[in-house]
Amino acid sequence: MKTLCANDATIFTFDKQHPAKLTVNPGDKIAITTKDCFSNLVDEQNTLATLDWNQINPATGPIYVKDAQKGDILKVTIHSIELADQGVCAVGPGFGLVPIEKMTQKIIPIREQQAIFSESIHLPLNPMIGVIGVAPEGEAISTGTPDAHGGNMDTKLIKEGAILYFPIFTEGALFALGDLHAVMGDGEIGGSGLEIAGTVIVTLDLIKTADSELKIAHPIIETDDHFAFIVSRETIDQAIIDATNIGVYHLQRALNISLEDATMLGSLVCQAEISQLVDPQLTARFMVPKTLLPKLF
Ligand code: CA
Ligand code: ZN
Repeated sequence: MKTLCANDATIFTFDKQHPAKLTVNPGDKIAITTKDCFSNLVDEQNTLATLDWNQINPATGPIYVKDAQKGDILKVTIHSIELADQGVCAVGPGFGLVPIEKMTQKIIPIREQQAIFSESIHLPLNPMIGVIGVAPEGEAISTGTPDAHGGNMDTKLIKEGAILYFPIFTEGALFALGDLHAVMGDGEIGGSGLEIAGTVIVTLDLIKTADSELKIAHPIIETDDHFAFIVSRETIDQAIIDATNIGVYHLQRALNISLEDATMLGSLVCQAEISQLVDPQLTARFMVPKTLLPKLF
């Protein structure tokens, strides 16, 4: 298996100008180690007050996928997410939806598949990837910002067993990931998850679109039972509207039905959900069950 280590390949932007740190063939399995979103700089001794804010949201990459061309689709299968033995949660002024006055951090140990928030409050884990994506079409985009290329989507469905589909904007795709969370709720309302370092094993594969008319413009997540159509926009309202319309379009196309029927089905059995409300763009998803849409590609 190929490996890529955060110490040798940390980026703070998704950018088609970045030199590749690893080149793989479609179908290769890769183990990628990541630092937490504070570059592993916050612990019992070092507080957020002394943090270097230029080192926020590191991602490990970029990885160049041979034969990947603009217009193709990158298929990312997440095999496993292994977590470090402790993480950090932080709240502070301007971080989230609650008016917190003082920057506050909590170091949270992980023991026996639980996050030990306090002596009496133990939380079941939901290991997930906050930042994951490819180089964008235009200018470089900070790893803290989600958009059509993926990035900081902070979506709890991006976990072991999930398959992600990204539009490819540049030769090689230039894939990267980071910002693992041991646990996070929809919304990430305080501004951080349980931020933690770790190792992710993925397979990167290609769907060549040259001979098919199916193109995608935003990331899609396939879970055991749903397709989640992800959109990040300046407002959550616009993100939900756009994600919904993409999901309804795919229903219409796959089932070969009218827009009216696809909208009725969307209204009857699909879920409009919030991923996160705290990043520079906000992320929503439209959840189409596989009972309705068994296959996308
Ligand atoms: Ca994040
Ligand atoms: Zn995070």
